[in-house]
Amino acid sequence: MCEEEQQPQPPSRRGVLRWGAAAAAVPAAASLAVAVWPSQSAAGAAAGTAGGGGAFYRTARGDTLRSISARFLGTEQRWTELYRLNRQELGRSGEPRAGQQLVLPESPDGAATRGFAPLPATAKPLPVPPEGYRLDRIGDNFYAVTAGGTQAAFLVTTAGVVVIDAPPSLAEALPAAIRRVTGKKVTHLVYSHDHADHTANASAFGDVVRIAHTATAERIKANQDPGRPMPTVTFTDRYRLDLGGERLLLSYPGANHETGNILIHAPRQRAAMMVDVVMPGWAPFRAWGTADSVPGVLRAHDQLARMDIDTYIGGHVHRLGTKEDIKVSREFVRDLWKETSGAIAATDMGPFFGKVEAGNNWAGFDLYLQAVADKVEPVIHRKWLGRLGAVDVFTRENALTVALSQIVDAPRDL
Ligand SMILES: [Zn+2]
Repeated sequence: MCEEEQQPQPPSRRGVLRWGAAAAAVPAAASLAVAVWPSQSAAGAAAGTAGGGGAFYRTARGDTLRSISARFLGTEQRWTELYRLNRQELGRSGEPRAGQQLVLPESPDGAATRGFAPLPATAKPLPVPPEGYRLDRIGDNFYAVTAGGTQAAFLVTTAGVVVIDAPPSLAEALPAAIRRVTGKKVTHLVYSHDHADHTANASAFGDVVRIAHTATAERIKANQDPGRPMPTVTFTDRYRLDLGGERLLLSYPGANHETGNILIHAPRQRAAMMVDVVMPGWAPFRAWGTADSVPGVLRAHDQLARMDIDTYIGGHVHRLGTKEDIKVSREFVRDLWKETSGAIAATDMGPFFGKVEAGNNWAGFDLYLQAVADKVEPVIHRKWLGRLGAVDVFTRENALTVALSQIVDAPRDL
């Protein structure tokens, strides 16, 4: 890279910089096709940029990634971010040509300005009624409550109400939804797992029967959160709750999103709830929300795919799921797994350690993992953008997570 002439200069003299709202004036297809939508039509990309806050830079003669990084990101060391964001546009030389429009990762004041792919229709939020939450009935007596991207459920029986999870973000909506459909009191609470975003309002239901997997009980004990009181009933493999003419079958498929994260089956309603595994319409969250076992997440998908159900409750995003959502999510995680496996096989680890200071194993390993992710990310984008929501957000990090899992978990069954 040639850097000698790269003194910081006002943008007006060397190219054009657009920040925030000004970026909306940039021809959208041209700007956003740069980094994240290799497979989408110009019209599709344009739709995602309306009102977006991306920052772009029109390159001038002599610009290099290092010089652009030094000018706009405060250090030339961040050229790799520019490369990642713009590599589709940069071509084989890895450097920009004059007049190219590059996406910048961050504005000068630190505000995020990354551009994102538009959500497909199946991932978009559904209309929220005036109550402020969605209440979905699932067969007889079983309900899901969704607001702000979080979901809980409850089962109404003649002997009382069983709530499944108690998210703090639904602290008002969940009791209000229960009051809307029954005058009966909550007598039981099932912890899907221990994560606070799903359970930290459990104490609000008072002195009820609380059911959880033994591993969840251990975590609750360790975390000492007054919002998550200890379970009163625990199980390790299976538990059947028969109450007031209704039935819930709880089972544990092994460590997955979290150790102790259970599958909750309402056979009469042909529904299953398993939290943080399948996100209906969406690509997975970052590292499946600190997954305890990535292979376990894939196995949980297998188990869900085998169930004879019509409705799936995933605990997040905007709607209930179907068998088809489970099938598509399973296909995605399997594809990510397979592509990562192929990239590992095609990437020789040794040379990366020769590029860094002798003995800096972390640095060598990071270069290697990033090279694996460089192979996986564009392939997954090409195949999945438009099929699932937010494929462009966490796929790279999930490829890194999967790569590490393949190396250290090394499952032989997948
Ligand atoms: Zn969780």
